[in-house]
Amino acid sequence: MPLRLYNTLGRAIEEFTPLTPGVVGFYGCGPTVYTYAHIGNLRAYVTHDILVRTLRNRGYTVNHVMNITDIGHLSGDGDSGEDKMLKSAAERGKTVLEIAEFYTGAFFSDIERMNILRPGIVCKATEHIGDMIALIKRIEAGGYTYMAGGNLYFDISRFQHYGDLALLQIKNLKAGARTDLDANKRNPGDFVLWFTKSKFENQALSWDSPWGSGYPGWHIECSAMSMRYLGETFDIHAGGIDHVPVHHTNEIAQSEAATGKHPWVRYWVHNEFLVLNKEKMSKSGSSFLTLQNLVDAGYDPLDYRYFLIGAHYRSQLQFSWDSLGGARNSRKSLLDRVRALGAETVKPGAGSPALARLAAFHEALDDDLSTPRALAELWGLLRDGSIAPGEALWTVLRMDTILGLRLQAAVKEAAEKDPESAAKTAEIEGCIARRAEAKIAKDFALADSIRRELKEKGIILEDTKTGTIWRRG
Ligand code: AMP
Ligand code: ZN
Repeated sequence: MPLRLYNTLGRAIEEFTPLTPGVVGFYGCGPTVYTYAHIGNLRAYVTHDILVRTLRNRGYTVNHVMNITDIGHLSGDGDSGEDKMLKSAAERGKTVLEIAEFYTGAFFSDIERMNILRPGIVCKATEHIGDMIALIKRIEAGGYTYMAGGNLYFDISRFQHYGDLALLQIKNLKAGARTDLDANKRNPGDFVLWFTKSKFENQALSWDSPWGSGYPGWHIECSAMSMRYLGETFDIHAGGIDHVPVHHTNEIAQSEAATGKHPWVRYWVHNEFLVLNKEKMSKSGSSFLTLQNLVDAGYDPLDYRYFLIGAHYRSQLQFSWDSLGGARNSRKSLLDRVRALGAETVKPGAGSPALARLAAFHEALDDDLSTPRALAELWGLLRDGSIAPGEALWTVLRMDTILGLRLQAAVKEAAEKDPESAAKTAEIEGCIARRAEAKIAKDFALADSIRRELKEKGIILEDTKTGTIWRRG
């Protein structure tokens, strides 16, 4: 079965086929680095990670690009609101670049702790200003812009497909309804491509441009950087659902206005919110928890990863300490069960129930990344007494290449921490080797007596096509 993804553009589950066979261009909106990521943001990055791992498992080469917004993200979309980077720098008595560097470091430390694979290309907005200026010039040449109050705006009424992604209708966009009021705008949905003087006269970082010295708007950053690395049309773009009505809608408008190509992105993947106290977790809201807050409360970052993958990415997920505690308990018993499988992996033979479980696991992920069903298959495998431990372990570790729960490390750690069990394992394996030699020498009496001795110690042997595996009875 092919991979099926829910495409926000068109609101339907679609079969995924990349533009170039075997290669996937994937852009996930990255953080604005003016403060720590909250655990809601991390839900977005875990979603991207599961998608990337699923694609790679299917054999695709994934070119994963993530931006770092280190300039220009206003709280509004016009010439209003505050520049988040500037405000944070002023509050902390640092320069914008110092702030960006500090929180970028903190972000990647969170990513590493959550076992999220680092994207192959991580690009900073401040290092791509030339690309943004070049793109804005193309948009301007197409007649989609106007200058007002010293800033260059995108005129959404000139773009035919405006709002298709979010099912918006321009005539219904009331001033102030979705963006801040900005007297310079012709239409409330218009947004700034390039800021010059306006109210940011003392802007710390500015660049020369055809529209005057200034800096880019936020949306243009993602258009310019994604196209720089993935081409003018690419496969998948992802982010949280808050980005559908404004950020991604505006990214599409300016990208397609510049290139004249439609669609710019073929599949749009959006994760639902993490919610705390009935409120979407947000950087400006009161309910804001960081990964470090969870760690300080005694949780492992992987408890939180387990908590996230227990829900489907398109369902709203309510955070509570109780449910995080539940995830921790489940992960702990998962680790116990996996450790009890020993340290030897055995590739299951054709027709083995372990392979049926693995196929069902992949089928769950192919069905719009159903991690809850995939997890259920993992648990089903562990509870299935008919599957030999070595085969179960082999299968579990395969599954974990997508789930990312670091199970291999847990197995290794267990073997190292428990020398007694390691010695016992070595002894059992020595017996199995002697039995194999006895069978080769056709000394079946000796082979049988070794099997019996082990059985008396509670060790059950099972001969498979790929060798003998053992488990505790
Ligand atoms: P930001 O740094 O605010 O641009 O957000 C980074 C990513 O986190 C974006 O993809 C957002 O859509 C996503 N996001 C923000 N808040 C939440 C939330 N409460 N739950 C899930 N995703 C979120
Ligand atoms: Zn973006």
